[in-house]
Amino acid sequence: MSDYYQLLEVDRGAGPEDIKRAYRRLARQYHPDVNGNDPASAERFKEINKAYSVLSDPDKRQRYDTYGEAGVEGMAGQGADPFSTFGASFDDLLGQFFGGGDPFGGGRSRTRSRARRGETIGMRLRLPFTEAVFGTSKDVRVRAAAICARCAGSGAKSGTEPTVCSRCNGSGQQRTVRQSLLGQLVTATTCPVCSGTGQEIRSPCPDCHGQGLMMEDSTLTIDIPPGLEDGSQIRYQGRGHAGQYGGPPGDLIVELAVDAHPVFDRRGDDLVCSVEVPMTVAALGGSVPLETLDGKETVEVEPGTQSGEVKRFRKRGVPHPDGRGRGDLLVQVAVVTPTHLGEQQRALIRQLAQLRGEEVEPQGGGLFARLKGSGR
Ligand SMILES: [Zn+2]
Ligand SMILES: [Zn+2]
Repeated sequence: MSDYYQLLEVDRGAGPEDIKRAYRRLARQYHPDVNGNDPASAERFKEINKAYSVLSDPDKRQRYDTYGEAGVEGMAGQGADPFSTFGASFDDLLGQFFGGGDPFGGGRSRTRSRARRGETIGMRLRLPFTEAVFGTSKDVRVRAAAICARCAGSGAKSGTEPTVCSRCNGSGQQRTVRQSLLGQLVTATTCPVCSGTGQEIRSPCPDCHGQGLMMEDSTLTIDIPPGLEDGSQIRYQGRGHAGQYGGPPGDLIVELAVDAHPVFDRRGDDLVCSVEVPMTVAALGGSVPLETLDGKETVEVEPGTQSGEVKRFRKRGVPHPDGRGRGDLLVQVAVVTPTHLGEQQRALIRQLAQLRGEEVEPQGGGLFARLKGSGR
């Protein structure tokens, strides 16, 4: 387990801008593209991304500050199923800290409320790279507990009402008194009849079997602003599972799983790609067409361009989620050495080498011809 603040080399009080700056600096430093796919750098890059996805989100950061990695671990989710839920585990976690996960239960007062807050629903939404860059809207199917229409959520059959629990007299707790060597031993456990609610439903509603809730499918349109990264979360307050017996509803959290793009990578707000430039064009200058996310562009290549040089297209990167500005597009030049040379081409290049005083393999002989001749 690693400390996210340490990973990003910031202190715990760092503001959002500091965190973003630190992330950009480190991402540039450890990006696989600039480290020749060195596995250690790739691992570090992944860790940095994970730390940033948490610390850049105020909600996740707070959870991380409070509960550590365990508080955000479940949010990362697993598998490609967009409807897999991870909310339950997080609510379980809350339960460990607040006792029972029922903030309305109280426990001290005699008049316990039956109301229970609805659980949070977590879902992962897969998005193509380009849609995440420019923003989109998606209809998703949400399966959530809703208030039972038949009993209006009371859980009791029509014409009846929940009554005070006959077993525990409404305390919600069952006390067991045992005689021991040390005297009377009293233990209190949750009442099995009313599950601690203090109220008993003698004639349950036939639709919801006394739960007051029914599972329902609905469709929700998710508006995704431009520029959100893989792992970003959108929270819909009150759109999770309905609360039981009058409790408030939980939230719905949609986590984005953004697909990789075959050509473009994201580096913060910048898009990064590489473009192949023939050796002749790199030497003499020219232009190379490039299909960007915004359409066709032309990469101007100055005479004497080297492999690895980066061309910057301002405001052709990822738009900012707040709608103000865009990052840049960084195009890295890859000079391509010509292969499959014909006689004449070979002669021309040989002549060029001679003029420049550069030593090349002698005509019709040399090491590589001998290797070829020996059947390799
Ligand atoms: Zn019902
Ligand atoms: Zn009871």
